[in-house]
Amino acid sequence: MADATTQQSSRSRDLDKLLLRPGHLVGPAFEPGTELRDDLQKYVRILVVGAGGLGCELLKDLALSGFKNLEVIDMDRIEVSNLNRQFLFRLEDVGKPKAEVAAKRVMERVSGVNIVPHFCRIEDKELEFYSEFSIIVLGLDSIEARSYINAVACGFLEYDSNDNPQEQTMKPMVDGGTEGFKGHARVILPGMTPCFECTIWLFPPQVKFPLCTLAETPRTAAHCIEYAHLIKWDEVHSGKSFDPDNPEHMQWVYLEAAKRAELFGIPGVTYSLTQGVVKNIIPAIASTNAIISAACALETLKIASGCSKTLSNYLTYNGVEGLHTKVTEFVKDKDCLVCGPGILIELDTSVTLKMFIDLVEDHPKLLVSGASVTHRGKNLYMQAPPVLEEMTRSNLSLPLFELMDKFPKGVVHVTGTAGKGDNRQSCLRKLRVAFKGVDGITDTDMAGGA
Ligand SMILES: [Zn+2]
Repeated sequence: MADATTQQSSRSRDLDKLLLRPGHLVGPAFEPGTELRDDLQKYVRILVVGAGGLGCELLKDLALSGFKNLEVIDMDRIEVSNLNRQFLFRLEDVGKPKAEVAAKRVMERVSGVNIVPHFCRIEDKELEFYSEFSIIVLGLDSIEARSYINAVACGFLEYDSNDNPQEQTMKPMVDGGTEGFKGHARVILPGMTPCFECTIWLFPPQVKFPLCTLAETPRTAAHCIEYAHLIKWDEVHSGKSFDPDNPEHMQWVYLEAAKRAELFGIPGVTYSLTQGVVKNIIPAIASTNAIISAACALETLKIASGCSKTLSNYLTYNGVEGLHTKVTEFVKDKDCLVCGPGILIELDTSVTLKMFIDLVEDHPKLLVSGASVTHRGKNLYMQAPPVLEEMTRSNLSLPLFELMDKFPKGVVHVTGTAGKGDNRQSCLRKLRVAFKGVDGITDTDMAGGA
């Protein structure tokens, strides 16, 4: 076995080509040298959000890219169906927290790397937790979770008096996502490039096939399956609802779909495709995860070291037929409530925290309920857990101006829930508060705000 030094130098051989030499494509502040490599290992702290298919790949790639201080957060436990692609997990791990097993396995294989696992919901961590990382890398499959982390990271961004983002408060994010043979990798530099919320329209509501296509002009195997599932089932089984977990029901739909496909000369109806279409299962493909993770790890290295300019700013990968990749430069939404300077709220110095919370909950643009308020990492009022609620309750009757240490203006963070009915989800809003009549703040300064 090679000794530790040889092993170490052979591991950084490829990395050294990027970090030790100057070049034409490097970023503006790039200073090549062994010091840079050592600093990356010593000072850069990376949080990986998600320890599923993409998260496993990300942890491995980042560890092998020389990063030594990694943390991973995931609320799920390992299931048997994960094992085909979430390659850090074994049969004996089923039932254990993904974050803990993933961290342990990578540390066993890559010497010198330290990975701290967090087995909890992302909302359970204080905002301070997220502020301590140099870069946040996302390997998630949910839009809600992305939206939340995006709001947290953008919440750290501060703007100067001319509404220019202050670079030292910028928390970079690298977001990966995969769906079957398709995937994306994007770089979010809050204040500079569009945040997740600026381009939320990239996730359109799921398209269902029009019923007339299913009934009259089927063209694909999926059309035939949906015809059997949505139309034929009701015709034949009046009143009896279809149960996707009942194998007899599924078999019936499959046979009907096969008959219809034969009638229209359409190939490709199989039992497993029937299950996939009816249950809306999108297969997870290990190679897609590997490719997207590699792109994300490289962008992370570029942000951390400046060894090259970052992706600008959204890479899509499509391996459905042949292979196609493309980079699109999306633009920021200048009115974005999440990464912009924040909604400006102008207050009298006498307004109490309770009055402020009522105002926020009634604000037509914010739509927050159950609001908790923090200022510079200090909890002014927390709705939960009960012990924090009790500790902060007495603040409600105090003027916000005093709670914010009598600064004429400042940024407060409000967390709560937004949305209606079953669609409620955690949200975080950044608000700029300015107090009237303090330190030369006049009403004219506020023109164009709110
Ligand atoms: Zn935005």
